[in-house]
This record gives sequence, structure tokens and C-alpha cells, in this order.
Amino acid sequence: MMSNDKIESVSLHVLPSLPYADNALDPVISAKTIGFHYGKHHRGYLDNLNKLIAGTEFADLPLENIITRTAGKADKTAIFNNAAQTWNHTFYWHSLRPKGGGEPPAALKQNIAASFGTFDACKKELATAALTHFGSGWAWLVLDGNKLKVVKTSNADVPMTTGMKPLLTVDVWEHAYYLDYQNRRADYVNAVLDKLINWDFAAENLG
Ligand code: FE
Repeated sequence: MMSNDKIESVSLHVLPSLPYADNALDPVISAKTIGFHYGKHHRGYLDNLNKLIAGTEFADLPLENIITRTAGKADKTAIFNNAAQTWNHTFYWHSLRPKGGGEPPAALKQNIAASFGTFDACKKELATAALTHFGSGWAWLVLDGNKLKVVKTSNADVPMTTGMKPLLTVDVWEHAYYLDYQNRRADYVNAVLDKLINWDFAAENLG
């Protein structure tokens, strides 16, 4: 009771709504996977973050500030991991959409062609990054300076802390696909890129 009172006295981070229904990505990503991934994993990171920052210098900071202020600090690893994973998952949900895939909007496609040669080359590089990442992590399309790039990060790591602007991401932690695809990460990655990836979101982030 007392600890609840204490937690309620600070401004808590709240779990953002999913941008679609929990079954809207079916059959590529099932409602069951979303139920665990959003309802348990994402919420879990957020709840942990709120507990870890209560009463600390991070209590009233926006999520992005918590991430940049704790990145690379050995004594702040738990706060960084939970803050970054909270941010990463919200960004991932927006990187997907029902009836996604297809081709990017014209301006983004031009940028992609300038950086990768062709859209297919970009998509292939993104798929390869997602497939070859060893262990838990993320594959990203980012803006690095004035060039688009594909990068991978491990565990909770985010491209912002190394000066890159994320445009979209694919979660390749096993919890993202194991209920639907078991060990077949390639099937998950290819289906996401072909049917769900939200190029409009990437275009918005490119600005
Ligand atoms: Fe995840």
C-alpha cells in the first residue's frame, strides 16, 4: 500500500496504445504473439522502468532523455535497458501496419536509391541484418548524416545513442516470433518485410 502511494506520487510513463487491433497483423503476427509481446514484454519493461526511476533524478524526464543520459553508464544499465526497450517497442509497433510492405513513398524511395542503389538492395540488406543478428536485438533503417543505412543493435541498444536517426525497426528478439514461427526467424522477417513493414512511418521519420 505504502509503496503504491509512493509510486503514484511521481509522473509515471504510460504504455502507449497499439496503433491497430491486436489481431490486425494476423496471420503474419498473431493476436497471441501481440498479447504477450505488447501486453507482457512491452508492459513489463515499462513497469520496471517506472519502479527503477521512482524517486531518482530520472523520475520526471521524458523517455528519450532517460535513454541518452543512461547510455553507456555501467551503474545505470537496468534503467537504460528498460527505458530503451520501452522506446524500441513503441517504435516497432509503428514500424508495422496491417497491409504494409509494398513500396516506400516516392521521396523515401529516392533516398533509398541514392544510398543503396535500389529499393530491393535496401530490403535485402534489412532482411540480412535481421536474419544474421546473433542473439537478441533489432534491425534498423537509419539516417546517418545524410545517408540511409541498415544497422543492427544488440539487446536494448538504440541507434540514437550513436548519433543515428531511426526510421524503422524489426524486433528480432525470439519473443517477437517464437509463438508463430518457432526457430524460423527467416519466415518471420520475410513476412514482416513483405506484408507489414510501414514505409510511410519511415518516410515520416525521415522528414
Ligand atoms: Fe520485443
